This record gives sequence, structure tokens and C-alpha cells, in this order.
Amino acid sequence: MNHSETVSLFIKGRFIFFHVVFIISAFLVPMESSALLLGVFLYFTRMFGVTAGYHRYFSHRAFKTSRSFAFLLACLAQSSGQRGVIWWASNHRHHHRFSDMPQDLHSPVTGTLFHAHVGWLFAKEQAGWGKFAPDLIRSRDIMAINSSYLFWVLLGLALPAAIGGAITQTWMGAFNGLIWGGLFRIFLLDHVTWTVNSICHTVGSQPHKSDDNSRNIFLLCIPSVGGSFHNNHHAFPIGARNDHQSKLQLDLSGMFIELLGVLGLANNIKRYKKKS
Ligand SMILES: [Zn+2]
Ligand SMILES: [Zn+2]
Repeated sequence: MNHSETVSLFIKGRFIFFHVVFIISAFLVPMESSALLLGVFLYFTRMFGVTAGYHRYFSHRAFKTSRSFAFLLACLAQSSGQRGVIWWASNHRHHHRFSDMPQDLHSPVTGTLFHAHVGWLFAKEQAGWGKFAPDLIRSRDIMAINSSYLFWVLLGLALPAAIGGAITQTWMGAFNGLIWGGLFRIFLLDHVTWTVNSICHTVGSQPHKSDDNSRNIFLLCIPSVGGSFHNNHHAFPIGARNDHQSKLQLDLSGMFIELLGVLGLANNIKRYKKKS
């Protein structure tokens, strides 16, 4: 089996494998609070990688950054286990192109809620990279990062295991680190990301009148680090911030990008302006 076949097998099987191993382990292995705290911390670091990196930078170019910081964002996001940067961005751009139309790969309007949440990941039809991410496949940097996907996922699992083992000096501590710092983090990140695709196209407020069924759900703004203001995002996809109606709309990813701007790590940040 060559490298690409190994990656493909890992990708297809990992959704089920990681979920099953996490759920069984959560029942069988006593949870250590330090491992859970580590998992929550790592969850938020990866969520920023996915929302600010995969979503707002690589999919929508909502800001500009240096080659080295883009590399960091891509590596961080790839360790989330949500497939490589080119797959993520091309399928997401496809979603915006056909949002809630029959061609949409994960619409709960034209398909079931289950299909929009997770079922579509196992479907044969996926967005073509050449059509939806030509800018990404032209970049040798991004192609190289994309092909190292498996390495970053495994590193993202090995790291919390090593930290857990180092803190407790036991194999059980390492196992706890792997389960709660690794698999729990992946489990939570998957479902919160998928919830934006499924629930945020089903229920919630719709301050922007649009052709699709995208919605804002305030209650999910913390775990989704601002991604749940999804109707705002669909109204202005290239924007770095989703707090269109009020500063109380806690768009943590937008704040993160603004912070990157202050630190000189992001520039040309695109912001939504209300029409007067
Ligand atoms: Zn959407
Ligand atoms: Zn988007």
C-alpha cells in the first residue's frame, strides 16, 4: 500500500474508529481532571486553527498573512483531523457556491439532518480541487503541507499522551492524555464543526435575508469560536468577523484575527460594513 492509499484508508476509517475508541474509553478509563483541562485547551487551539485558518484564511481569504504564519495555521488546523487544507477549503467553497441547493454536499434543506451533519463525509461526491481550489493547488507550499496531513494528526495525538505521561509519570496518565487531550478533543471539534453545517442551516435567527437557510445561533458562539453566526457569515463570506449586528455577538475568531493584526501577523483584514 502506497502513502496516498494509507492516508485515504486512515481518513475514511478514522471518523468511526476515533469515535468508537473515545466513547468506549470514556466509560472504561477514569478521567483525570488535568487531562480534561488539557483536552479543552487543545480543543480551542485547534478550533481557532480550523475557523481562522481553514475557514476564514484558506477558504475565504478574509485576511492576508505571511508564508510562515500561513504554514503554522495550516499545520495547526490539519492536526484537528478534519482532513487536509485543500479538501477542507474546496468542499467549503462548494458549499457557498451551492448553499442549500440540490448540489450542496451537506444541506439539511435538500437532504437529511444526519446527512448534513456527518453522512456527507462518506458520500462519493466531493468538490473538485481544480475547480474550487485552483489557487491552493498552484501553491507548492500548500500542496506540501496538504500531503503531510497524516503526520500532523498523529503528532496531535502523541503530544497530549506525552504531556499526560510526563505530568503523572505513569502509562495511565499517558493514556488519559491520549483519550481526553486527543480523542475527546477530536470528537468535540468534529461535532461542533458539523453542527455549523447541519443545525446552523436549520434553526436560529436570520437577520440577513438570503437565498439559503443559514442561521445564527448565539448559544453555540463559544464552542464554535464565532462560527455559529453562520447567517452573518453567508451574507459576507469574505469577512474576517461575524459580529454584524452587535459587539455582544462573541466572535472569538474575529477577535483572534484582529489580535493577529495588532501583532503584525495579519493584514488587509476584510470587515463587514453595514449598508446605510
Ligand atoms: Zn453554510
Ligand atoms: Zn464559509
